[in-house]
Amino acid sequence: MSYKEALQHTIFKIISKSAKELQLDTYVIGGFVRDYILKRGTHKDIDIVAIGSGIKLAKQVSKNLPNDPKVQVFKTYGTAMLKFEDLEIEFVGARKESYSEDSRNPIVENGSLEDDQNRRDFTINALALSLGENDFGELLDPFNGVADLKNKIIRTPLNPDITYSDDPLRMLRAIRFATQLGFEIEKESLNAITRNNERIKIITKERIVTELNKILESEQPSVGFILLEKTGLLKHILPELIALKGIDEVEGQRHKDNFYHTLEVVDNISKHTDNLWLRWAALLHDIGKAPTKKFSKKVGWTFHGHEFEGSKMVYHLFKRLKMPLNDKMKFVQKMVFMSSRPIVLAQDDITDSAVRRLVFDAGDYVDDLMTLCEADITTKNPKRFKKYHNNFKIVRKKIIEVEERDHVRNFQPPVSGEEIMKTFNLKPSREIGIIKEAIKEAILEGDIPNEFDAAYKLMIEKGEKLGLKKHEKR
Ligand code: ATP
Repeated sequence: MSYKEALQHTIFKIISKSAKELQLDTYVIGGFVRDYILKRGTHKDIDIVAIGSGIKLAKQVSKNLPNDPKVQVFKTYGTAMLKFEDLEIEFVGARKESYSEDSRNPIVENGSLEDDQNRRDFTINALALSLGENDFGELLDPFNGVADLKNKIIRTPLNPDITYSDDPLRMLRAIRFATQLGFEIEKESLNAITRNNERIKIITKERIVTELNKILESEQPSVGFILLEKTGLLKHILPELIALKGIDEVEGQRHKDNFYHTLEVVDNISKHTDNLWLRWAALLHDIGKAPTKKFSKKVGWTFHGHEFEGSKMVYHLFKRLKMPLNDKMKFVQKMVFMSSRPIVLAQDDITDSAVRRLVFDAGDYVDDLMTLCEADITTKNPKRFKKYHNNFKIVRKKIIEVEERDHVRNFQPPVSGEEIMKTFNLKPSREIGIIKEAIKEAILEGDIPNEFDAAYKLMIEKGEKLGLKKHEKR
């Protein structure tokens, strides 16, 4: 079968010509071919396999391209990369791999195209198109990868136990591809992942997180997390989520299964945002529920303080997974910490002051927080579902009204500490804090508007109550 039409970009003609000059059999392989057949749009990373030196081929291609683009050589891996237009093209010599127990880095020898296809993770990733002059565009599909693409199946070319044990990262890749593409992992493969799940321990945290992020960025991330749980991988990666699994019952009172609830929330939020960190917040918003869970006869199941506990856990989780401990983490912490605030609001009559406090505390992230809370509505009772959503609509409207009037988002006190010091001839002292706090509280409560004159007047009153005297020479 010929796929010439997949190779219309001039780059393929140039690679083909360069390969001919060096007398190397050469192929496009992997994601580019897969995504072409799936009509997923053009894959911008192109993998080229040469039967011989990939590095030499890359250099030859560069010579044949206008302005000789720089060839980046990775000697240890025997690969080379160059960029052309918006494409990143990676060159590698065909290889045969053998693995040892404790590492996912194989011993590598030169090999044939077949050896190279054997070392690929999945049949759908082992598809190759020839760049030879005489068979340009010819498909080489030794494992029926095209049939697996049609039937939406993830399958390893060789024995799955060996494939996954050799490089356990492939277990996560299988689940990631299943999630991204909406494919099923073939049963034997799924069983092999379950048998080998412990081996995930030899994979670096960074690589694990890359795959988790790709799962979270998919249309329906729950598919991936359910597979991670089913295969036993999740307990090694995110035990905090496993701790949310299950329903306890005491004296006829049950709480919901917070694991499946969480996955619903993640799917819900994914319909409304592509922000990876907001999706992480959805995934982690209830992790504090496991350590705070209590039952009492009077009130049944409670999770008091789970938001605070959860936000602390976010830090430990990010640290363990070597994720960035920066503003992204702080954002996730803030979302988790505040995750119940709008819900409480939406249950009662909504007062302006409660909305002002919410906007004040959430700052720029108030919209993200509302998106999270809306996603958190997973009740199966249609009446309640509608009621909560309507209430949130009201909260959103109020947020806009209150913000237009009072400007409390990124609140700057209308009277500064310096002004207070000058007015009462004070050195830095406790009183300044007390006065500032009183002004802020009065604004949030709605007792005074967020304006200088009103705040100044309150400052004088408050100062006098504290026994301070207005400095005459102002
Ligand atoms: P995407 O870009 O969507 O992640 P891709 O298939 O291009 O998809 P890459 O990680 O760029 O993914 O890998 C390129 C090719 O290299 C794959 O298609 C596969 O053939 C092979 N490959 C990548 N990682 C592995 C692995 N761990 N084991 C075996 N083969 C792999």
